[in-house]
Amino acid sequence: MDITEKLKSVQDRIAESAMRAGRQPEEVTLVAVTKTWPAEAILAGFRAGIRDFGENRIEELASKKSRVERELGPGSEIVWHLIGPLQSRKSKLAADHADVFHALDRLKIANRVNQRLAESGRGAKTKLPFFLEVNVSGEESKAGIDCSRWEEDGAQRENLATIARTVAQLPFLTPRGLMTMAPWQVDSAVIRSVFRRVRLLSEWLQSEVPQADWALLSMGMTDDFQIAIEEGATHIRVGRAIFGPRR
Ligand SMILES: *Cc1c(COP(=O)(O)O)cnc(C)c1O
Repeated sequence: MDITEKLKSVQDRIAESAMRAGRQPEEVTLVAVTKTWPAEAILAGFRAGIRDFGENRIEELASKKSRVERELGPGSEIVWHLIGPLQSRKSKLAADHADVFHALDRLKIANRVNQRLAESGRGAKTKLPFFLEVNVSGEESKAGIDCSRWEEDGAQRENLATIARTVAQLPFLTPRGLMTMAPWQVDSAVIRSVFRRVRLLSEWLQSEVPQADWALLSMGMTDDFQIAIEEGATHIRVGRAIFGPRR
């Protein structure tokens, strides 16, 4: 199956899940995740109509972006999503190349990215939209702000709110909402409860830090994006279902 067919099938499943949840398919942005695939995969995706692409490593994003821009020229309307966590020494690259950052989990990173956006002048043109990454499953291997017991642990909630309040004040970043990753290899009821808890957490955050907008939810990948949409995802990050098994 080529990318066009696979994409169509993903879009059909998005529509199906949205319908089931009483939502419109247009409320869901499909971010096509091209990590490990060459720039040619992005160009093929582009020809199939995709405009939102995601990479989890900023070096990989930057190098494929320059390759793709050379091919397509300016004004391609591609939106480059950085979906993986960032090390602080790579903050400059992220500030220079990402259009949306899904995995902000530390103030240090936020400050450095903001500073670079100021210095480069890029921030004066457009603010960088970001999601705070939260870990509600409690899996050690997962990145994100620890919100594993947020419902009963006031300190965890306060920690998240403090980070949210602080980043909301940075002039060159603009909050969008929360991002999460479901645990690996657990049954769908557990995955559903993780997504639901993140949605409830985002509602709590909105009431607690109302000076910013936290309405969007980045959650759901190849194996679980339909559940994520049913639980309110506005951004799903899908790789294998579009491009096939990773290399
Ligand atoms: C790789 C990756 C995805 C996409 O995973 P698939 O299983 O290929 O859909 C989504 N989000 C993040 C953060 C990733 O690293």
